[in-house]
Amino acid sequence: MPLDTASYKIPVARSAADLREAVAAWRKEGLSVALVPTMGALHEGHLSLIDLARTKADRVVVSIFVNPTQFAPNEDFSAYPRTEAADAAKLEGQADLIFAPDAADMYPEGFSTTISLTGVTEPLEGTFRPTHFAGVATVVAKLILRAMPEIAIFGEKDWQQLMVIRRMVADLDIPVEILGGPIMREADGLAMSSRNVYLSPEERKAAGQLNVILRETAANVAKGKPISEAVSEGSKRILVLGFDKLDYLEIRDAASLAAFPEDKPSGPARILVAAKIGRTRLIDNMPV
Ligand code: AMP
Repeated sequence: MPLDTASYKIPVARSAADLREAVAAWRKEGLSVALVPTMGALHEGHLSLIDLARTKADRVVVSIFVNPTQFAPNEDFSAYPRTEAADAAKLEGQADLIFAPDAADMYPEGFSTTISLTGVTEPLEGTFRPTHFAGVATVVAKLILRAMPEIAIFGEKDWQQLMVIRRMVADLDIPVEILGGPIMREADGLAMSSRNVYLSPEERKAAGQLNVILRETAANVAKGKPISEAVSEGSKRILVLGFDKLDYLEIRDAASLAAFPEDKPSGPARILVAAKIGRTRLIDNMPV
């Protein structure tokens, strides 16, 4: 059933053709365009990227698309929160257009192309979600090619994703500037995420400690503790908090996400974590 957008105070494009028509009209006026891709269930983290977009371009398109191809069959695609009307209300006065296609518009029958990267996609998330980044790279390429923005903005919350997109855009000569926006956090430091709504009150409390452990582990390495030692201590602390499974806690080269062979950073480094608590999988990262 088509959603009733009559009450929205912001225009919504549902197809590539409608999106292109809106962007073409802006182009005629000489206006620049920024794209902020999202899966909706918008929070302050998303809104901070939109604020950043407004400082960089004349018009801001926010895409809302829960992309099926980046979820594995055992993941939360059907449960993922879908709150389009509330999202549209949050975007009023903040963005100029919502692009919210349905899956059949993005992936019509016969769709056969996948963009997959080697290297930066392989460790960390790539180990635990082996098909995830091909889904992300393909959908982001499509969104960029549909909107043809000067700038596309992504959150540092998904640090590896940001590195993957930078790599793809450079490798495929896609004419767009990729900008990263800082991670927005709750009062206790928990990185904002659409998935935080899954957390029970008890889980929410433990989740708020994850960023503390990240910061302390990073500080220990910055003070000279070997990476393996600091990470092993940090990992134990995460499990003690009540997390059910630690997928990874790693300190890696910030751009390539390769490990440091000498057990200490030899250039810009990032600490990255993924851990499950109850049915929620949380990720976070920060500089070392
Ligand atoms: P998502 O809707 O989760 O796919 O996220 C859409 C964009 O918002 C991605 O570029 C995310 O990295 C970014 N994002 C998600 N959470 C945050 C946050 N807490 N702070 C900044 N950006 C975020």
